Amino acid sequence: MAEAKCPSCGAPIVFKIGASMSQVCASCKSVVVRSDRGLENLGRVADVVTTDRGLAVHDRGNFRGRNFEVLGKLTLAHPAGGSWDEYYVSFDSRDPGWIEEAQGRWSVISVVQATAPDPSQLQVQSQVPLGTFGVFVVTEIGQGTFHSADGELPFAARPGSLRKFADLSGANGMTAQIDYGDGTHPPIVNVGYEVELAELNVQRVGFGARGQVVKSKDTKCPSCGGPLPLASGQSERIACKYCGALSDLETNQVISQQGKARQEPWLPLGAKGVLENVEWMCIGYMHRSTQIEGESFSWSEYLLYSEQHGYRWLVLDEGVVRFGSNLPAGQVDIRGLPNAVMVRGATYRKRNSNTARVDYVLGEFYWKVAINETVSADDFENGRYMVSSERAQTGTQNELNWTFSQTVPRDVVEAAFGIRGRTGAFGDPGQAPAANRVGGTGLNGLVIAIIVIFIMLVFIGACSSACSGGSGSSGGYSSGGTTTYSGGGGGVRIGGGSSGGFGGK
Ligand SMILES: [Zn+2]
Ligand SMILES: [Zn+2]
Repeated sequence: MAEAKCPSCGAPIVFKIGASMSQVCASCKSVVVRSDRGLENLGRVADVVTTDRGLAVHDRGNFRGRNFEVLGKLTLAHPAGGSWDEYYVSFDSRDPGWIEEAQGRWSVISVVQATAPDPSQLQVQSQVPLGTFGVFVVTEIGQGTFHSADGELPFAARPGSLRKFADLSGANGMTAQIDYGDGTHPPIVNVGYEVELAELNVQRVGFGARGQVVKSKDTKCPSCGGPLPLASGQSERIACKYCGALSDLETNQVISQQGKARQEPWLPLGAKGVLENVEWMCIGYMHRSTQIEGESFSWSEYLLYSEQHGYRWLVLDEGVVRFGSNLPAGQVDIRGLPNAVMVRGATYRKRNSNTARVDYVLGEFYWKVAINETVSADDFENGRYMVSSERAQTGTQNELNWTFSQTVPRDVVEAAFGIRGRTGAFGDPGQAPAANRVGGTGLNGLVIAIIVIFIMLVFIGACSSACSGGSGSSGGYSSGGTTTYSGGGGGVRIGGGSSGGFGGK
């Protein structure tokens, strides 16, 4: 440990590890950097409101047998608005590394010796060999501006400076980030692992330790003023359970004025249940649909959250329930496209492609979900297992998200969440038995399609000008008219996230 005095205010400055280059003075918030001439002042960082999301300086944990301590926190501003945090840590009080979080998924990385490609050669999905660490797939190319910081950092972070980066995904849960900075230094390659928060064994001792006021993450609906307690610190948008308004949590602006839900979803918001030995809370509900040959097919999706384990999805499509999670792009072998993909040695064959639209949402979401946004969805099947891809069709970002899901008995889920007997509840598009789905396009499907067309004709006949606002974002949500039997066109969207083009960074 080296001790000196802050050149701005004289407070003691202590660097905990030799790899640290700069530090934010806890008393005057100046960025103090080590140099040949002692300590220099690079200017003050912005005051940021500390929330109880993420980690804080002084938090400790243990990852795969190594103790770590959070030494510094870097807050970067996203060019499209919003910010994200990265945590500079020391392992065993000696070795530097970084812990990052995006969309409920955490990564632990550290600097390695590997050659980075020129940033102009990179595209999302391009493959990048990183020496002995293997081949990685680019999942995001982005940039941020150094906005604020706390604690110590391994470089001289000048407030306002630009950082370009690429995020990559590799095999076996590996992850990488290439830091191109502002172009004035050689690229820095970091490699590590994607993990769940549970694997970090965090002891939260840092919140408030440096005198910050910690803000509660609960909010109020900007449309009706109703209280909206937030389950997840990572949420970007929330649709009010009282009035249906979809609002952005950062700007506190209403994005879409949906109608109020007329019936409770199959899985109520706030319901808790244990699946795969983890207790999940249902925090979001989406009604989605696709058009196939002029017909509308719809299904419902439920976002589950656990602070320690991140996000999962339950998808209810024509009575069949799928439980799914994000699949890192580096684990998908796409050489068999467009007909098949391989994951962990198994082949998944293309089942269907469609355009999936968001019709209605309730609750909170970790990406900037928008009503009527669409994605191109492809499903690949192998028995009860499915690999799905979704590509955003709006915005300028070229993002592809993969998900892995499996069918689970509906009664198991209903027992886990204590919702047995909630048949016919809002959001259950198909009352059809599961066998119809498995059997594909047999006679049952045809009979049901005819019945559905008949019901639709009756509905259209009975519904004149009064229901012209059917499924829109402004005319109120109609649970009767848009729920039709899906003859195999339903896509699965599990944990894909950021179809609105916001990847958390
Ligand atoms: Zn100072
Ligand atoms: Zn409201």
